[in-house]
Amino acid sequence: MQHRVHDVETLCQYINPTADELAAIEATKAVFRWNITPYYARLMDQDDPNCPIRKQVVPRLDELEPDLVGVVDPLEEVAHSPVKNLIHNYRDRVAFCVTSECAIYCRYCLRKRMVGDADFMMRRAEHQAAIDYIAAHPEIRDVLLTGGDPLTFNEAHLDWLLSRLRAIPHVEVIRLGTRMPVKLPFRITDDLCALLQQYHPIWVNTHFNHPKELTDDAAEGLDRLLRAGVPIGNQTVLLRGINDDAETLRTLSQGLVRLRVRPYYLYQAQLIGGTAHLRTSIEKGMELMEALQGTTTGFAIPKYVLDTPYGKVPLTRSYVQGRAGDHVIMKTPRGTRWAEPNPLPNGEARTLHLPSLPLPDGIATIPTGSDTFVPFAVEREVF
Ligand SMILES: *Cc1c(COP(=O)(O)O)cnc(C)c1O
Ligand code: SF4
Repeated sequence: MQHRVHDVETLCQYINPTADELAAIEATKAVFRWNITPYYARLMDQDDPNCPIRKQVVPRLDELEPDLVGVVDPLEEVAHSPVKNLIHNYRDRVAFCVTSECAIYCRYCLRKRMVGDADFMMRRAEHQAAIDYIAAHPEIRDVLLTGGDPLTFNEAHLDWLLSRLRAIPHVEVIRLGTRMPVKLPFRITDDLCALLQQYHPIWVNTHFNHPKELTDDAAEGLDRLLRAGVPIGNQTVLLRGINDDAETLRTLSQGLVRLRVRPYYLYQAQLIGGTAHLRTSIEKGMELMEALQGTTTGFAIPKYVLDTPYGKVPLTRSYVQGRAGDHVIMKTPRGTRWAEPNPLPNGEARTLHLPSLPLPDGIATIPTGSDTFVPFAVEREVF
């Protein structure tokens, strides 16, 4: 942390910055903090400004394009915070932004409004106020410690925080949202793991965006956490020119699964000012998900979601196209269609209001209402 790169001179030891990058470092100073750990800096390509690592952490002049000026809190997190930095937007769980510090500052960060900003740092009394709120709300069974990055705290403070949360009987699960395995895997020390282990069930969600981030050091950090019994999930942000192609996403997911990390969410990038150059369309994201479906291990496929002030919305293309008589017509991952008889117990009202389609050729002879249903493909494909 002490050796983080935050001046041009040091940056030049790692890459040959472009004129755009040099101008942007100066011009974005007042907008968003800039910091890169030496470990993460070494993953950058020296000469390629389009390097997927470099694009995540080195400022670009694109950040100053007039884009959603004034949009700093699209999820209305502040409105959903009953006490400072505690977001209570789902009945049974809270996101507790315990710090505004991070080891690196991702240029597309959802919480740019607070991350790296001293006003959002929390004093111990403010942590205590949030803990008191959680203790007074028995419906909260899941507490997500996020930020910023909660692993920027030292062990003593983490111990203070975790022991107080664990002492609340209705808190079942404690989760940590941290990018340390990606940007500073050496933070996952044996001491830290021994500490976390005392407060199980602890889950970790981390944030790998590109296969280049899956280094041996990252693998070692993840392994230490896993050996302490901490299940690890991964949240990726879909970013233009960084991971918005099926091959990159598949390689990332498969690499994570090899390291025993479960791909959890693929986030549609939020509408945050200064990030237009990194956002992709939702159609593109849905196409990528379709390309993953059926072409890799089922649990290597994350759920593609858009976060809104009303909760996360799964952006899933429905494979169910409609109904033809008593059959539900669906598209298979191989592009063929499938008609599945859809039995209804006598007298039960239909609750699926699917659009009615003409009965495709080839299934008209299946007796509807029969009690022996044989699913079959309408269109077959040889593979
Ligand atoms: C994402 C999020 C959570 C956790 O949601 P899960 O779907 O359970 O992972 C909790 N609180 C807030 C405010 C969130 O944005
Ligand atoms: S690690 Fe997370 S909270 Fe920190 S800057 Fe990156 S995206 Fe934002």
